[in-house]
Amino acid sequence: MTSTVGSLLNEATALLGHTSPTPRLDAEVLLRHITGFTRAQLITHAADALTSEQQSQLQKLLTRRAQGEPVAYLTGTREFWSLELHVTPDVLIPRPDTELLVEQALKLIPREAHWQIADLGTGSGAVALAIAFERPDCRVVATDLSTAALVVARRNAHRLGIANVAFYQGEWFVPLTGLKFEVIVSNPPYIATDDLHLQQGDLRFEPRTALVAGPEGLDALQCITREAPTHLRTGGHLLLEHGAGQAEAVAGLLATQGCTNIVLCRDLADLPRVTVAHYG
Ligand code: GLN
Repeated sequence: MTSTVGSLLNEATALLGHTSPTPRLDAEVLLRHITGFTRAQLITHAADALTSEQQSQLQKLLTRRAQGEPVAYLTGTREFWSLELHVTPDVLIPRPDTELLVEQALKLIPREAHWQIADLGTGSGAVALAIAFERPDCRVVATDLSTAALVVARRNAHRLGIANVAFYQGEWFVPLTGLKFEVIVSNPPYIATDDLHLQQGDLRFEPRTALVAGPEGLDALQCITREAPTHLRTGGHLLLEHGAGQAEAVAGLLATQGCTNIVLCRDLADLPRVTVAHYG
């Protein structure tokens, strides 16, 4: 390999073309990670040479990426809701799709509200932190079963200087005994155990417990919909992300618990991915 930014960018793109669906983007992100350049600087500094240490760092990352490791785990960061989040293989990589969940929650929470909000299965803290950031007078409580995930989430809160959020270890509502909320949100695992997507792309490297929820992918959603009424104040709202094919099943679970005021929200691809349940 030659050693300028421009030539390395082209060579890295060609190399990743065999294995990644987004080779150019991956190459740019990895080079930016190593050089500290912005995307524009990759172009204006195309003739700059990388040090030999930077080159060997790039080689190592390209090898790992070629073997399928997610870019977010290689750089240790992923942007969500304009917040730069730290991510490790202990947490699900925040998806742009999940911004729909945040967007719908913010629609319901008045700007000056002093509400109590819960986020279940917070992972990197993405959803909890986005809501806490946008609604500084609210108090967000987030739970996760994984202590390793909570280390990441707490570090993110600290790094971003977001103080109106607290993280507790435990499954779904378990650490929240006796507490009630105006809004409960969750992006739980909802993939079926034998779903072939689990053997593709980033999902192969992400924590299984953050992805998989029983034979139909509904186990976590069932548990959350069952417990939610106990933890919602009168007039409260439950917002759930789910798979595009699970909207009817989720509505069924909510109806079983006596909630019929249900609104389905579609993502940018027009797929039904978030269900909002209003408890009168
Ligand atoms: N939306 C993710 C995917 O299908 C899964 C995340 C989840 O299970 N909550 O890639």
